[in-house]
Amino acid sequence: MSRVYNFGAGPATLPESVLEKARDELLEWHATGISVLEMGHHSKEFESIVEQAETDLRALLAIPPSYKVLFLPGGGTGQFAAVPLNLGRDNPKFAYIHTGQWSGKAIVEAKRYGEVQVVASSEPQGFTHIPPRENWQFDSDVAYFHYTANETISGVEFQSPPDVGDIPLVADMSSNICSRPIDVNQFGVIYAGAQKNLGSAGITIVIVRDDLIGHAHPFTPSIFDYKLQANAHSIFNTPPTYSWYMLGLELEWLKEQGGIAAVEKRNIRKAGKIYAAIDESSFYLNNVDAAVRSRMNIPFRLVDENLEQVFLTKAKENGLVNLAGYRTIGGLRASVYNAMSEEGVDKLVAFMREFERTRG
Ligand code: PMP
Repeated sequence: MSRVYNFGAGPATLPESVLEKARDELLEWHATGISVLEMGHHSKEFESIVEQAETDLRALLAIPPSYKVLFLPGGGTGQFAAVPLNLGRDNPKFAYIHTGQWSGKAIVEAKRYGEVQVVASSEPQGFTHIPPRENWQFDSDVAYFHYTANETISGVEFQSPPDVGDIPLVADMSSNICSRPIDVNQFGVIYAGAQKNLGSAGITIVIVRDDLIGHAHPFTPSIFDYKLQANAHSIFNTPPTYSWYMLGLELEWLKEQGGIAAVEKRNIRKAGKIYAAIDESSFYLNNVDAAVRSRMNIPFRLVDENLEQVFLTKAKENGLVNLAGYRTIGGLRASVYNAMSEEGVDKLVAFMREFERTRG
């Protein structure tokens, strides 16, 4: 077996120890004689997996008791609809900041359910910065304010949550959840698909403040209704049981790493090394405002774009895969979520320097 370093944006690399544990438990989980894949979702065994995952997530993010944690199907995209459906019945007016492709998609979806005020957009500048707070324009009586904490494609990350006063703040943390400490009290809703920083595809985390639950549009699909799901402990129907289990293993791994503050330190070092390799050269380019560069997704280009295919081919020969940029954008991108080892980053940086030396 020769595992490579996978810089894909998601589903993304997992810690090897997590995969090994899943392998060891695949045929039989904890002397039960059955696999998690075969477990009933109302069984006491599965219930213990679910309870542990919630306990661990609550501890890692210090989630206050006044918030529910839901584990839902439908991905981040499901939440693009679930948020306006759950929060917009009495006041279908929402504010969104447009900082990249994913907030753009969230805006399109929200427009199906109400009036969307796009408070500012960095699209004309190619999503390379976050519009300054003083230029944002929105009414003070919107139902919520939505932002994408990390734009996975353009590599722009809010370094702290925006200050929007008392308006419930909704954050799409699909690509940076648990990569840095947050103060959950600052948020109304946080959502994230698990397949980047927290495990495998199929399960979505929703952390929602209690007072925002119970106001869904009557036509909200039951599986997306926060109240129905909270009452059912996120098992309104058959959930993606194996993804939930994988999420649990990943949370356990995060605890072993020393928690989120420890992982953040490593994430800062990892991203710093790649940005340094880019900035120190006149061969690679990243034109995102340095103050808001993402620690998770680092898009870059070669000054000579004709060399990008060779770069990808040679990188692959060196065991560094999935470095192509988003399919509609092109260029290159290194995604370095929690589970990407520092060793993987060092190998990538060494490869970039060597490629520049021989082709630059
Ligand atoms: N938001 C962000 C920031 C994302 O990166 C993605 C997926 N790449 C999504 C939402 C959509 O998530 P999903 O594919 O789980 O629906």
